[in-house]
Amino acid sequence: MTNTPLGNRDLMRAINRSLVLSQIKTFGPIARADLARRTQLSPATITGITAELIEEGLVYEKEIGDSSGGRRPIRLAVNPNGGYVIGAKVMEEHVVGALTDLEATLLARQTLLLDGRTPEAVAETLGQMVRELAAQVSHRQQPASNSHRQTPPRLMGLGVGLAGILDVSQGLVRQSPFFGWKNVALRDLIQDQVQMPVYLDNDVNTLAYTEKWFGAGQGINDFLVVTVGRGVGMGIVVNGQVYYGVRGGAGEFGHIVVQPGGLSCSCGKQGCLEAYTSEPAMLLQAEAAFQRGELARCPQTPDELVQMAESGESAARKIFSQAGNLLGQSIANLVNIFNPERILVNGEGVRAGRWLFDPMCAAIEEHTMPGLRGDVSILIEKLGDDDWARGAASLVLHELFESPIKRSWETEVA
Ligand SMILES: [Zn+2]
Repeated sequence: MTNTPLGNRDLMRAINRSLVLSQIKTFGPIARADLARRTQLSPATITGITAELIEEGLVYEKEIGDSSGGRRPIRLAVNPNGGYVIGAKVMEEHVVGALTDLEATLLARQTLLLDGRTPEAVAETLGQMVRELAAQVSHRQQPASNSHRQTPPRLMGLGVGLAGILDVSQGLVRQSPFFGWKNVALRDLIQDQVQMPVYLDNDVNTLAYTEKWFGAGQGINDFLVVTVGRGVGMGIVVNGQVYYGVRGGAGEFGHIVVQPGGLSCSCGKQGCLEAYTSEPAMLLQAEAAFQRGELARCPQTPDELVQMAESGESAARKIFSQAGNLLGQSIANLVNIFNPERILVNGEGVRAGRWLFDPMCAAIEEHTMPGLRGDVSILIEKLGDDDWARGAASLVLHELFESPIKRSWETEVA
């Protein structure tokens, strides 16, 4: 796998190619004439590029229309079976991997425990995971819809998501709260383990890519993904692009200050949103409430705390309502700053249900600037480990659909 420098003509062609492919992904099934109109490329260029995409098995011709006579128009759509990608979400103790097709449909999954907490150990575990998932591709039968493909299916890359501040262009983990790493060239270490392009990003950004291409962010230019769970994070999509800030640090929503001089946060500061609304933070507050005699027992898991709220323990409900209120206030600030069309709230913390989200929604109504609330829809989605891994896979799919830089995806696996 090499990234060969391109001449101007090749670069133009690569840009046009990814433009055409992204339009087919977003608006397909789509006729060639509509593609020409949307991309403002000449019909001859469209014919050439689409022929190439069909030859590679990435796109196929689909007959659309009723049977009332006449020629059925031919439209182009992304061929889900045109290739495979692997995504991996790295967590504190283990990695969760997903093998998906080009529509991010989960085909196989894998969970492996980490051997250690060094960058090398994480890279080795990812290498092992990729080898095991890649073996699944070789074993897969070619579905009938794949009969038009001219080339064997390929593994197009590995996407890796992990919490922390990442410099995506350098493949660098600038800061990892889980592992205590600083400035680790993780992408190169993983690249030594696998024979395919590797893409690395903050885990919440990978979710933003899944939402943009396959989820509730499709066709929406300005939306935010807010995650609650182990931490509190945010992915920012502005004008259709994930916003990174100058070196990848944008979106540290969990560390905005909601209570100056308040509870200690994992980042070393005090009074951060995460110190009140993450699941570990709420368990700490429950422990304190138990010691004050306000809770009948000390919950060990977030689910247990939810059950206590369900069964009427007012101190448990109060922890959720305080967290929900702070979360809602903070989301109202986001609405006022970004004027987004949609905010997707997801993550493991969604299990708290109405105990967290009723107060959150009330606070959003109370604190959003008049006139802006009507522009935004708030969606609460429940996501599990597989969704995070699919998110990481979407990082590769994003490169496929949108990157203008031609890469040599030559990892034949069939
Ligand atoms: Zn903090």
